[in-house]
Amino acid sequence: MALSATQRAPAKDRSRPVLQRLAKAYPDWGPTLTFTSPLELLVATILAAQARDERINEITRSLFAKYRTARDYARAPQERLEQEIRASGFFRNKAKAIRTMSAQLLEEFDGEVPRDMEGLTSLHGVGRKTASIVLGAAFGVPAIAVDRHVERAASRLRMNKKGTDGTERGLAALYPKRDWYKVTWTFVLHGRRTCMPTPACPRCPIRDLCPYPRKTL
Ligand code: SF4
Repeated sequence: MALSATQRAPAKDRSRPVLQRLAKAYPDWGPTLTFTSPLELLVATILAAQARDERINEITRSLFAKYRTARDYARAPQERLEQEIRASGFFRNKAKAIRTMSAQLLEEFDGEVPRDMEGLTSLHGVGRKTASIVLGAAFGVPAIAVDRHVERAASRLRMNKKGTDGTERGLAALYPKRDWYKVTWTFVLHGRRTCMPTPACPRCPIRDLCPYPRKTL
């Protein structure tokens, strides 16, 4: 199927309408993990690896009532924390990651979650994606978080760059900082609900702006 002129247009010409339409199509965009503090979001994001957010929210409801500070996690016996987060999957590794990260928070950051990329990514088990989620959602610092959904959608829309962190750099170049939070969460929902591994192109709100050659009919 031949692409239209709009679909072939440079990403910078499509980026604005793409974001407007995604925000309209997914009015519930925003973090789906429940949290009331940067530490809670950090812990929830570590738990959410390879698990559904709904499941994590069920676990954290009781976990967060019990564990209030980095010290609480750092002092928790490994086996006890494992049992409390068991339903999240990979619970041994996750319990170890949370305890190690919390001990590091105590030792190096006075028990507080750092509010910059460098500090966050220096923490055990925290990569750029988790750091960006915490920066944007807990601190209001502009950051684009790239998970597999954002990566897939941005790549099909030809909004990524080549090389390390290419999706993050591509989207950051296309959108002003004030939009980065919205870009993250609208692209997450778009990748989850429509631009899935097998994309649902016929009902896609940005089909006429997408140059992906293998669209579904
Ligand atoms: S048209 Fe298809 S491939 Fe393109 S963004 Fe929409 S769902 Fe994804």
